[in-house]
Amino acid sequence: MKNNINWNNYALETQAVRAGQQRGFENEHSIPIFATSSYVFESAEDAYLRFTGQKDGNIYSRFTNPTVDAFQQRLALMEKGERCLAFSSGMAAIMSLGMSLLKAGDHIVSSRSVFGNTILMFENYFGKFGVSTDFVKLTDLEAWEAAIKPETQFLFVETPSNPLIEIADIKALADIAHKHNCLLVVDNVFCTPVLQTPLELGADIIVHSTTKYIDGHGRCIGGAIIASDELIEKSFYPYLRTGGATMSAFNAWVFLSGLETLAIRMKGHCENAFKLATWLEQQPHVVKVYYPGLSSHAQHKLAKEQQRDFGGVVSFEVEGAKEAAWKLIDSTELLSITANLGDVKSTIIHPATTTHGRLSPEVRAMAGIKNGLVRISVGLENIDDIKQDLLRGL
Ligand SMILES: *Cc1c(COP(=O)(O)O)cnc(C)c1O
Repeated sequence: MKNNINWNNYALETQAVRAGQQRGFENEHSIPIFATSSYVFESAEDAYLRFTGQKDGNIYSRFTNPTVDAFQQRLALMEKGERCLAFSSGMAAIMSLGMSLLKAGDHIVSSRSVFGNTILMFENYFGKFGVSTDFVKLTDLEAWEAAIKPETQFLFVETPSNPLIEIADIKALADIAHKHNCLLVVDNVFCTPVLQTPLELGADIIVHSTTKYIDGHGRCIGGAIIASDELIEKSFYPYLRTGGATMSAFNAWVFLSGLETLAIRMKGHCENAFKLATWLEQQPHVVKVYYPGLSSHAQHKLAKEQQRDFGGVVSFEVEGAKEAAWKLIDSTELLSITANLGDVKSTIIHPATTTHGRLSPEVRAMAGIKNGLVRISVGLENIDDIKQDLLRGL
């Protein structure tokens, strides 16, 4: 393998395994972990040139690190973006949207169905510095457009959403955003670039929690932003370098190996999730199944157009509300009771009393999160063992 391959000529699966590596003088086959906080200059003049940006090169690992660079290059290619910047967590990446792009008096429009901490970040922290947010229903395009003001800087959406797996129309939202001189930010955690590449649909910025499917084995916390070279260079990188929420070299190394198996894992997650969703639909005590691969799903057609497959998360509502949902969860012996998702291990959670438990009952009802709702992040175990485990409590 040469160091100067043009990776744009290769498919996602190949980029995922090989892109980003700059082989060093040891001819190592695997990408090394550069466990170093700083870098040595050749001379005083070299130090001066690098510090003033007149010469490329590493200075300090809060700014750049070769292992993190390899991860960034690989993920940027897979997302069809110009550049990627890695962060210490998904939330650190979301916070960087505010620190890099917003000022007091600005406004954002966000889907109501986004990660709970994202809502808190917008309301409590961006809000504290004079940025206001309006929350809208992700499928209601008119509501998105009506919420835009002259001060609006970006629209923020997560699709598919959690836990009801609703699908937002990325192309239509990008058109609305651009018509009003705003950016569209898409949280692509549920699909990953294997199933959906929002930049190709018109989005401007991708946000990732690499903690989920990109790691895939529930080991490390991390995040990323993918955007144009200009946005990264002028807005995000100067903030990250100063703000300091950088990804560690060790975590980047773990995520690099996660990317290598991402395509094949996503295929397995989707296959298992589809089988589980169709099986759940036939169970007598299941009231409703939420999975975009089912023809009963309200945005099944849109999901088919916009995504390459339907993802690994399935939610369903059981008869008997909270009591029945808790009983089902407690009857499992295999599934892990945890809020994490995107793991090779299947996980099960009761959203109304955990991930969405801080919402008031009215807000929860408006969001459609019923007390009988159970969410499963379908892992890579044998599907019959997963079904058997659920049958105990169903
Ligand atoms: C987990 C998650 C986040 C936050 O990421 P962290 O790595 O936990 O900080 C943001 N968005 C979505 C959709 C997530 O699932």
